[in-house]
Amino acid sequence: MSYIEPAPIKDKENPLESMMQRFDKAVEILGISEEMYHILKVPRKQVIVGLPVTMDSGEIKTFEGYRVIHSTILGPSKGGIRFDPEVSLDEVRALAAWMTWKCAVVDIPYGGAKGGVACNPREMSAGEIERLMRAYTTAMLDVFGPDQDIPAPDMGTGPREMAWLMDEYSKSKGMTIPAVVTGKPLVLGGSLGRTEATGRGVMVSALAGMEKLRINPYRASAVVQGFGNVGSHAAALLRERGVAIHAISDISGAYHNDKGIDVDAAIAYRDQHEGSLEGFAGAERISGDEIFTIPVDVLVPAAKEDVITRKNVEGIQARMIVEGANGPTSAKADHIINEKGIMVVPDILANAGGVTVSYFEWVQNRIGYKWTLERVNRRTDRIMKDSFDKVYETSLKHKVSLRIAAYIVAIDKVASTYKYRGGF
Ligand code: GLU
Repeated sequence: MSYIEPAPIKDKENPLESMMQRFDKAVEILGISEEMYHILKVPRKQVIVGLPVTMDSGEIKTFEGYRVIHSTILGPSKGGIRFDPEVSLDEVRALAAWMTWKCAVVDIPYGGAKGGVACNPREMSAGEIERLMRAYTTAMLDVFGPDQDIPAPDMGTGPREMAWLMDEYSKSKGMTIPAVVTGKPLVLGGSLGRTEATGRGVMVSALAGMEKLRINPYRASAVVQGFGNVGSHAAALLRERGVAIHAISDISGAYHNDKGIDVDAAIAYRDQHEGSLEGFAGAERISGDEIFTIPVDVLVPAAKEDVITRKNVEGIQARMIVEGANGPTSAKADHIINEKGIMVVPDILANAGGVTVSYFEWVQNRIGYKWTLERVNRRTDRIMKDSFDKVYETSLKHKVSLRIAAYIVAIDKVASTYKYRGGF
């Protein structure tokens, strides 16, 4: 028997600290009382489970899994499940709080949650991942529920894992309950447009920001760091709107072409090569770090937390950063970015397209009716654009960055809900 040690908490640019620094600033501007500060800060529930899983070799490995429910004041809690070697309780706590603020910014009736298991799905077989996902679901039977806590995909998980979760949960309840999870395959009640939704929201946010900076998309250039579900769809959709994609990257490295990357060819290449861009032709190979310093209009970090830090922020030459990932910019890099005059469309706004279509999926499951792709996209675009405008106006009103403005919009909504409901 072996035990997978969860990753140690990185003490320097910890995502929870980064989140709290922005939260504190917004709270100060809003003049929130100390009591309310603690109500908003402390997660409602934190569950840690041990998950023994039989590996293909016959060996039993025990993984550690988490689910943190940050808030349920606006409705059932919502948030993805991450399978990644660096998952830690601290990371999941930060991601859960981000989900609360994200749902509040786009005004959907959910609280925030996040789950994760410290594991490396790239080194596991489909069978091992399935057994792990089913074990995690069983451990969380009391936590999950269509009116309680609704999981979804995140890094390292996708529709296949959500199908296993839905099946395991439904079997335990003795009936099919599609609304317990979103991001499912279409045949199981998934929504059209869910897979592309986060990338689509990134595209809408980028275009809204470009309009403010008077950048014509047909003359604009972008680089996209991370070529998973979010990055690849964001790149393809930005390209479709006229933006030239000068570089893309994944864990194999970065690929740079000033004449523009053929994004569809890159996606096709990745899909034929076990999800990796390794060996992709039609671009010059550069190091993963160099992608941040390419002079372009838009930089889209679409991988994970803390990739833009004090160490590399000075080298950024983009005019705008649109955060496809959660927490890609450490709080310590914020003021340098602001000094450089770079517009940042923050994560809790820019990548909210995913949870927005998750909400549509849940609505469709509950009414037992399927929307057309056209309806899903139209409503997503409207929510993203309206939310951008609201955050933009708030930033002008309080003379703060879009990031702090997004926190102000979100925290104000959650705090006033508490005031009306009265009970804690
Ligand atoms: N994991 C995604 C996020 O971070 C989606 C969450 C959801 O759809 O519930 O926004």
